[in-house]
Amino acid sequence: MQDALAINALLEQGAQKAVVIGGGLVSLKSAYALRKRGLEVTVLISSGQLLSQMLDAKAAGLLQRHLEGNGLRFLLQTGAIAITGAKHIQGVLIAPATELGADIVIVGKGVRPNSGNLKEFGFKVDQGIRVDSSLATNVPNVYAAGDIAETWDLVREQYTVNATWPNATTQGRIAGANMCGGHEVYPGSLGLNSVDFFGLSAMSAGITKLPMNEGQGGWYQEENLIKVGNLPFYRTMIWQGDFLKGFVLLGDTSQCGVLTALIKAGCPLTQTQKKLAMGKRGTLAVGMIK
Ligand SMILES: Cc1cc2nc3c(=O)[nH]c(=O)nc-3n(C[C@H](O)[C@H](O)[C@H](O)COP(=O)(O)OP(=O)(O)OC[C@H]3O[C@@H](n4cnc5c(N)ncnc54)[C@H](O)[C@@H]3O)c2cc1C
Repeated sequence: MQDALAINALLEQGAQKAVVIGGGLVSLKSAYALRKRGLEVTVLISSGQLLSQMLDAKAAGLLQRHLEGNGLRFLLQTGAIAITGAKHIQGVLIAPATELGADIVIVGKGVRPNSGNLKEFGFKVDQGIRVDSSLATNVPNVYAAGDIAETWDLVREQYTVNATWPNATTQGRIAGANMCGGHEVYPGSLGLNSVDFFGLSAMSAGITKLPMNEGQGGWYQEENLIKVGNLPFYRTMIWQGDFLKGFVLLGDTSQCGVLTALIKAGCPLTQTQKKLAMGKRGTLAVGMIK
């Protein structure tokens, strides 16, 4: 809240140019908000695409063009060397002799759980505090939930921190119940993100990029792109054999609920169901899956 108020105060003082460092959700939402307030916004992304944790490269390119069409500027494979200015921000140095002028700089370079010195107390800590399916840590009578907890990821089949609100609230409820003597089982977490920029929605869940070469280990990707008016409608599915492991939707996100349920259900789909999942010849409903 303090950050939001401070940013707002800078805007009211007449800030005109913003540089946003980072291409993740927090950075892009900030860039979007600043652009909507009329600022000239440049986003620096050290990798080759925006939202690299959420979108495949094609969706990212389509979204980038949409954002550029609405006045945002992106510099890919570009990092910040220094933020210049003494009392006030002057700009951001992106090469020894190249400085971008800025009245405001936003840094959104990822989130890391603050697990402090818990390791010293015997907790198993990697990305976050490791919990089992009851959300108990390895230290008796201590549970963890939410952004701090490293849980079993349903599709990646490994422990990870999936730091989203739905995961946190479900985990909090189950951990609380079990701390009160309950026996609830947490089935596992799923990466899930949703955004909307200038009328273009994007939504993804599970694995959004092939973890190995097409065909290897049964992994393959299907994609479908059409244009509706000025907007790209894109959908891609990541399959391992007959199992849906993840998807990205751009434009039409109306089927995100059913597709997410299919990933969570972890059951094989028929060829017809797979075609329906790709949005061909009708709509797939969860009830169709046995
Ligand atoms: C800018 C931003 C945008 C986001 N947007 C989305 C979104 O659109 N959708 C989505 O699903 N998720 C979003 N998230 C993620 C979502 O907010 C988190 O996953 C969720 O809030 C996690 O809940 P939590 O209870 O684990 O942690 P938090 O919400 O961080 O709560 C932890 C609380 O613990 C307190 N605390 C910390 N240390 C101590 C201590 N030592 N003693 C006592 N209290 C302490 C903190 O002050 C805080 O109140 C966003 C996050 C950010 C930062």
